Amino acid sequence: MTLIGHLINGELSNEAERTQDVFNPSTGEVSKQVAIASQATVEEAIAAAEAAYPAWRATPPSKRARVMFKFLQLLQDNSEEICRLIGEEHGKIAHDAAGELQRGIENVEYACYAPELLKGEHSKDVGPAIDSWSEFQPLGVVAGITPFNFPAMVPLWMYPMAIVCGNTFVLKPSERDPSSTLFIAQLLEQAGLPKGVINVVNGDKTAVDTLLTDERVKAVSFVGSTPIAEYIYATANANGKRCQALGGAKNHAIIMPDADLDNAVNALTGAAFGSSGERCMALSVAVCVGKPMQDAFVAKMKAAMEPIQVGPCTDNSKDFGPVITKEHQQKVIGYINSAEADGATIEVDGREAQVEGHAEGFYVGATLINGVTAEMESYQKEIFGPVLQVMCVETMEEAMQLINDHEYGNGTCIFTRDGEAARYFSDNILVGMVGINVPLPVPVSYHSFGGWKRSLFGDLHAYGPDAVRFYTKRKTITQRWPSAGVREGVQFAFPS
Ligand code: NAD
Repeated sequence: MTLIGHLINGELSNEAERTQDVFNPSTGEVSKQVAIASQATVEEAIAAAEAAYPAWRATPPSKRARVMFKFLQLLQDNSEEICRLIGEEHGKIAHDAAGELQRGIENVEYACYAPELLKGEHSKDVGPAIDSWSEFQPLGVVAGITPFNFPAMVPLWMYPMAIVCGNTFVLKPSERDPSSTLFIAQLLEQAGLPKGVINVVNGDKTAVDTLLTDERVKAVSFVGSTPIAEYIYATANANGKRCQALGGAKNHAIIMPDADLDNAVNALTGAAFGSSGERCMALSVAVCVGKPMQDAFVAKMKAAMEPIQVGPCTDNSKDFGPVITKEHQQKVIGYINSAEADGATIEVDGREAQVEGHAEGFYVGATLINGVTAEMESYQKEIFGPVLQVMCVETMEEAMQLINDHEYGNGTCIFTRDGEAARYFSDNILVGMVGINVPLPVPVSYHSFGGWKRSLFGDLHAYGPDAVRFYTKRKTITQRWPSAGVREGVQFAFPS
């Protein structure tokens, strides 16, 4: 059986303290094994990154960017293979994998602007014959720890920007679907990146803890669930590292009485069930303002859900694939059961989804739950499955209060024709990414991505302009040359 190993200093290695099964979620079968790195293997990767750093730091940004231009081309040339690998281990259908890869590629496009992005700030004559400027210097070895749900895109949020800024990188992908991540990192080497600048170690908590505590690692970017994000942030900080840790989500859409209902239903169908709901920006709660809107919304949504089909990653005619593991399938079904037990109505039930010829696959069908309230566990927790919950409130303020009171604040959206209401909503809602008639307000690569509250620990968001700040340290230089007139005598106070 194939063993998925590591990429250290440009070489593939199969060193494994242990191995773990990698499943094909569409069939339910174990398809590969992944090597689980020991502390020593992770230290080897850190050492390789540290050794590669001085030369890479000294490489001009334009030359670093040229590697990214080649990488971009290789990603496009190999897109079919990447999507196949994503599908095999994540379960994503090819059209969905292609969308993920495209979003990742856009982050590489942004990284190609490195010389422009790294331009400093300069002020001439800040004093008599004194000039001052700020420049942005790399940090050294930085690490990324990524989740299963976007094995291509989320790593591409991190290392292209870290690397063009002059850092070297150690990536610890999700052990549940590591192949596409490893394959893509090899393409970066093919693009001409010197050995050791990118390293990939597969593993679990042992690998993560090594990255969090090794003093050679200067910064950590994390994306995953909130309990782990909180742990990563606290541990990285306690070890003196810069950290950004993006966590889980519960994204609400408010449907106002004046909304274009057809548009809202269309948008929510894709945003709730696309990618089996395994997106941190999935819209999983529809908050209808007024009972008439709730009734109309549920009726239209049920009709819209009739043709939805779940199927294996190999069938491009299907709408979404299985969830990641058997345990996760059971967890999602458990949340549907708990909503029912708490008194909600299961309007469309995906618990018994069957896919012909794939009886052992980890499928959950699109599910619609009505009459959900804030006290229910299914509302409070992130389900991370193809489940849309419907709530009803009387006013927009009540809907906003609900969202503001929730522990997560990743994304949200309002459907309305009222510009004033939309403006009030976007101004006052305690959520990091806001859509107005846009269901998945994922920022493009030249903005930055991040939630509020317990959806992000840290100050700077992922990718875009914030990534330049996260992966560099500002240095400010003030200069005067003696021939341009050094002041006579000692000065004990600032000049006034
Ligand atoms: P996860 O937290 O289980 O795993 C993420 C990473 O942390 C993996 O690399 C994993 O190996 C590692 N990890 C897991 N347990 C650990 C532990 N005890 N100690 C140290 N490291 C550990 O997340 P997941 O299930 O892979 O991904 C789904 C979650 O990620 C969801 O909550 C989703 O909302 C979130 N997510 C958030 C964003 C965002 O931008 N906010 C984006 C994608 C996914």
